[in-house]
Amino acid sequence: MKVTSSDIVISAVRPAQYPDVDLPEIALAGRSNVGKSSFINKMINRKNLARTSSKPGKTQTLNFYIINEILHFVDVPGYGFAKVSKTEREAWGKMIETYLKNREQLRAVILLIDVRHPPTKDDVTMYDFLKHYDLPTIVIATKADKIPKGKWPKHLKVVKETLNMEKEDHLILFSSETGQGKEEAWNIIQHFMS
Ligand code: GDP
Repeated sequence: MKVTSSDIVISAVRPAQYPDVDLPEIALAGRSNVGKSSFINKMINRKNLARTSSKPGKTQTLNFYIINEILHFVDVPGYGFAKVSKTEREAWGKMIETYLKNREQLRAVILLIDVRHPPTKDDVTMYDFLKHYDLPTIVIATKADKIPKGKWPKHLKVVKETLNMEKEDHLILFSSETGQGKEEAWNIIQHFMS
């Protein structure tokens, strides 16, 4: 998809703040620092629209972006930040669960994984959570440029196996440095939009 416009719509913490329009939504989840903001910015050809908001103490919000006036990306705050308090973690969990469980516009969830390392316990928990709610999942294996090409197949296999991925879910190798995987990611997103 050729992106010609993108903008932030709202940073929401509760359902009353979600945009009240019937546009398809794709949510994006991943642990802090996995490259989620870089992924969003690369996909929409922006340098800095999405920013990391996972610093401890910072308000954790669901950030809605509108793309080409026809699609919402919903940036879910990053997880697995050791310094976040238990209270904050619980608030995070509640907000995410409320959104993922009930949002009718939600078509699929993009789960970002750092391809250099096996998925963490938190990554596995998140994937299982998405499957529990029957949400179609697109796993994006980020930072592909950081490992040699010859090692890609082995690393992808580890991702697939550690998450115990279902057959119908998608796995895409991605790099926000080189743009690798961008077209494939858009093709799959478009498939879920129609
Ligand atoms: P977020 O916390 O998940 O939003 O992560 P960011 O997008 O802020 O990325 C975290 C760090 O990883 C930053 O220093 C990025 O420049 C770097 N990064 C993200 N994606 C890639 C990638 O595909 N390749 C490389 N080499 N670095 C990346």
